[in-house]
Amino acid sequence: MDQPTFDFIVVGAGSAGSVLANRLSADPRHKVLVLEAGRESHFWSRIPVGFAKLIDNPKANWLYASEPEASTGQRRIPIPRGKLLGGSSSINGMVFVRGQAQDYDTWAQLGNRGWSWQDVLPVYKRMEAYDGGADELRGRTGPLRVTDTPRQKIPLLEKMIEAANKIGLPFNPDLNGETQEGIGMSQVTIAKGRRQSTAFCYLDPARGRRNLTVEPGALAETLILEGKRCIGVRYAASGEKREARAAREVIVCSGSINSPKLLELSGIGQGQRLRSHGIVPLHELNGVGENLRDHYSPRVKFAITERNATFNDNARGWRLAREALKYALWGEGFLATTSVPIRMYFRTRPGLETPDATISVLPFLYERVGHERRIAKRRGITMNVNVLRSESTGSVHVKSADPAEPPAIRFNFLSARADRDGLLAAIRKGRELMATSPLKELTGEEIAPGAHLTTDEEILDWVRNNAETTYHPVGTCKMGADPMAVVDHELRVHGLQGLRVADASIMPTLTSGNTNAPCIMIGEKCAEMVLAGAATPQRKVAA
Ligand SMILES: Cc1cc2nc3c(=O)[nH]c(=O)nc-3n(C[C@H](O)[C@H](O)[C@H](O)COP(=O)(O)OP(=O)(O)OC[C@H]3O[C@@H](n4cnc5c(N)ncnc54)[C@H](O)[C@@H]3O)c2cc1C
Repeated sequence: MDQPTFDFIVVGAGSAGSVLANRLSADPRHKVLVLEAGRESHFWSRIPVGFAKLIDNPKANWLYASEPEASTGQRRIPIPRGKLLGGSSSINGMVFVRGQAQDYDTWAQLGNRGWSWQDVLPVYKRMEAYDGGADELRGRTGPLRVTDTPRQKIPLLEKMIEAANKIGLPFNPDLNGETQEGIGMSQVTIAKGRRQSTAFCYLDPARGRRNLTVEPGALAETLILEGKRCIGVRYAASGEKREARAAREVIVCSGSINSPKLLELSGIGQGQRLRSHGIVPLHELNGVGENLRDHYSPRVKFAITERNATFNDNARGWRLAREALKYALWGEGFLATTSVPIRMYFRTRPGLETPDATISVLPFLYERVGHERRIAKRRGITMNVNVLRSESTGSVHVKSADPAEPPAIRFNFLSARADRDGLLAAIRKGRELMATSPLKELTGEEIAPGAHLTTDEEILDWVRNNAETTYHPVGTCKMGADPMAVVDHELRVHGLQGLRVADASIMPTLTSGNTNAPCIMIGEKCAEMVLAGAATPQRKVAA
C-alpha cells in the first residue's frame, strides 16, 4: 500500500484546521498534508446571503441532528456543520465575536497555562484586519478581514437602538472592544461583498506552496497508533482506502462533533463504551465526547407593521432583482450582509460582573419550506436569544464502529438552573424592548412564543418544543488537567504522543458569543505551540 510520509497531517480544513495548514506550511522544511472530508468549495459559500442556501444543504454540510431528548420535546434538532474547505467558516453567519476577557481567564484558572485573556489577546490582534482600525485591543494587518455592519442602512435598527437606550442598554460602537455590554452593530467576516472564510483567508494564499498537499473528499476513518504514539491516519478517498504517515504529529481539527468521533473510532475513549461497539480500546480517556455545550436558542418573533422596515420586503420581486444588481455591480446590499446585523448583550440579574445573555436580531421572519429555510412573506423580526455561557452539558458518542454512521448527539439542555433562569429573563428582555418607544409604534403581534404565554413553566415548555441552537457546539475533547480532560494546555492528547486536537472541541467552557473567531484563535495558538516543538529533531518513521 502507498504510504506517503508527511511531517504533519491536519485532519479537517475548517476554522482551525485551515489556519494550521497555512502556518505549518509557511516553513518550506515542513511537509504538510490536509485531509478534508468535504468538497473544495460551493458557489454559495462565497456570497454572504449564501448562508441561507447552505444551512440545510447536504453538498456542503454534515447535517447532523440531535437524539430525541426531554429538553428538546423529543424533537431531533438540526446541527449543521460545514463540510468543505473552510469547514463551518464557509457556511456560518459570519458574525465575528471574540467573547469576554473573563472567558479566557476562566480557562486559565482551570489549569490551562497560556490561555488567559492577556495570553490570547495578542493572537486575536495578529489574526484580524479590522477596518475600524488598530489600537491596544484590535489588529489591522492580519489575514482575516473583519468589518463593521453599516448602521444607517436599516432604519428599523435605529429605532431599536433608541428603544434599547431607554431600557438601559447604551450603544456600544465596538462589541469586541473594552466591554461587550450594550447594543451594537455586528462585526462580520465579510469584505467587499465576499465571505471571509478560513479557506479564503488562510488556505488559498498557501495553496501554491509545494510542501502543502490539500486533499478534499478525504474522510479520515481512524488514526494509526503504534503503542502510545500516533503515527498516521487511515482514510477513504476516491473510493479507495489509503494511509498517510506523520513523522511529527497528527492534528485533529474535525470540529466538536467529528473530532471525538474520530478519536473513538480509533480506540481512544471510554473503554466499556468502545467495546460495546466492537472497537478495541487502545487508550482509555473518559472525557472523549463528554462536556458538549452549545447555545440553546429560542427564536422570539414579532410582526412589524411598517412597510420596507425589514428584509422581508427586499427578498422578493423587483426589489430582490434590484438587490441582486447592486451585488453584481458593487458587492453591496442585502445579498452582501449578515443576517444578524445588530445584537445586544446584557445582564439578566443584578450582581453579575458582565453580561450573561445576548439577543441577536434578524431583521426578517423566515419559514421552513420542506428542508429549506426561506424568508417569509410576512413582515417581522426574529430574535435569537442565548444565555452566553450555558452550563448544561451533553455528549457526542459513536453509535457503531462504522465511520459513515453519524454519532449520537445529546445536549441535555436546560439541565442547569442558570440556563433556565437566564433564558426566561432574556426572553422577557426582548419583550420589554419591543414594547418600548419608538419601536413599539411599529411592533405588531408577538408571533412566538405568543403574548399569551406568561408563566415560567409556559415559556420553558415552549422553549423545549421550539428552540434550536445557534450552532456553537464546543467542549467534547476539552482542554484541562482534570480526569475528564482530553487534551492538555498545549492541546496534546493526554497520555499519547504525536497527537493534538485543535478546534471548538477543546474549549472547556463556552465563550460569550459565536465561536468562529475563538476557533481561528485556537488554530493560531496551536500552530505556535507545534512550531515551537518542531524545533526539536525529527523522529524516524518506518515506511
Ligand atoms: C450554520 C452555522 C452558523 C454559524 N454562525 C456563526 C457566526 O455567525 N459566527 C461565528 O463566530 N460562528 C458561527 N458558527 C460557528 C462557527 O462557524 C464554528 O464554531 C467554527 O467554524 C468551528 O470550527 P472548527 O474548526 O471547530 O470546525 P469546522 O470549521 O466545522 O471544521 C471541521 C472540518 O473538519 C472536516 N472533517 C470532519 N470530520 C472529518 C474527517 N473524519 N476527515 C476529514 N475531514 C473531516 C469537516 O468537513 C470540516 O471542514 C456557525 C456555525 C454554523 C454551522
